[in-house]
Parts: sequence; structure tokens; C-alpha cells
Amino acid sequence: MNNTAYIALGTNLGNREHYLCSALKAIQDEKVLITDFSSIYETDPVGYEDQNQFLNMVIKVKTNLSPVDLLQVLQTIELQSGRERKIRWGPRTLDLDILLYNHENIETDRLIVPHPRMTERAFVLVPLAEIDQGLEIPTVPKPVSLLLDELQDREGVRLWKRRSGEDVFVLFEN
Ligand code: ATP
Ligand code: MG
Ligand code: MG
Repeated sequence: MNNTAYIALGTNLGNREHYLCSALKAIQDEKVLITDFSSIYETDPVGYEDQNQFLNMVIKVKTNLSPVDLLQVLQTIELQSGRERKIRWGPRTLDLDILLYNHENIETDRLIVPHPRMTERAFVLVPLAEIDQGLEIPTVPKPVSLLLDELQDREGVRLWKRRSGEDVFVLFEN
């Protein structure tokens, strides 16, 4: 497992915690190892505001999969959760976005990495900084913690379930 990626998880429909936990179980398999994870945050919707609050978290993984194969795996898991795409940035059972893949810059029709909107989203940067404060994003000359200091909407991101400090399987059990 030679590659390191960060993945953002988001959900705002139905049993949100269940969707996060099932996603973690589905992501971890013989080709993807979850090596770190943030707390779960409850966050105000951004972009399309007339919808429920989200639960968001970020995980760090090691993987043998190429970026596009990782995206394919994540999209399959989204579909298995019943994800429908009706409104851009609208309600969803599960959203799985690749934030970073090693230090690569990728721009194809299907995949852009680093995720193009990650630096303006407190619901991504708060959990990401919890895992790795000093993380550098390719093309952005500031660590995650400094980017976060500059964001206005941090109060829209509230700690909902603190990471246990034990292993990730504690989260899987719900
Ligand atoms: P946003 O990308 O602003 O967070 P979203 O997550 O709601 O919005 P989706 O409907 O989940 O958007 O995805 C739309 C398309 O974005 C996907 O079909 C996928 O091909 C593409 N995409 C591009 N870059 C990425 C990435 N880094 N991670 C996940 N999907 C990506
Ligand atoms: Mg998204
Ligand atoms: Mg997405």
C-alpha cells in the first residue's frame, strides 16, 4: 500500500451516523487501509442551504489503488448507500470525495485532485487539520491550519462525536 490519500465523508439524510459507519466498513478492504480518522462534526449546509445539517468527517488511507480506481470504489459505495444526484450540493445519504492523493495534481474529466473546493470549506479543513495540522496541499503554499484560520464559516462546524483515541473499529461498531 504505497499511496496515501485523504477522503472527505458527508451525509445529511436518514440515519447519518449509520451511513458514515457503513461507509467506513465498506471503504476498508484488501486494497484500502484506513490509517487515521477525524472526529465527526455536525455542519451547516453550504452552497444549497435549504436542507438538513450534515455530519462530516475526514479519513486518511493507504492504498494500492490508482486515483481513478479509488474514485470508482468510492462512487460504488455512494450508490450502495442509495445516493441520488438531483440538486447540486443538495441532500445526500453519502458523499465521498478524494481530497488529496499523495502530492499529486490530477485534472481529468472525472477527477480533480486536490479537490478544487476543499480550501474554502471549513467542514473539510476542520476535520483534516484534526488529523494533520501541518499538512501541505499541492499548489497551496500554506499548511491546512493556516488556511483554516482564514476561513469565516468555522462556527458552522461543531464537534458532534469526538474520536475515541482508540482504534478506528470503535467507530465501525455503530
Ligand atoms: P463537490 O465536488 O463540490 O463536493 P459533490 O461532492 O456533491 O460536490 P458529486 O455529485 O459527489 O459532487 O460529484 C460530481 C462529480 O465530481 C463526480 O461524478 C466525480 O467524477 C467528480 N469529481 C471530480 N473530482 C473529484 C474528487 N476529487 N472526488 C470526488 N469526485 C470528484
Ligand atoms: Mg462533495
Ligand atoms: Mg462528491
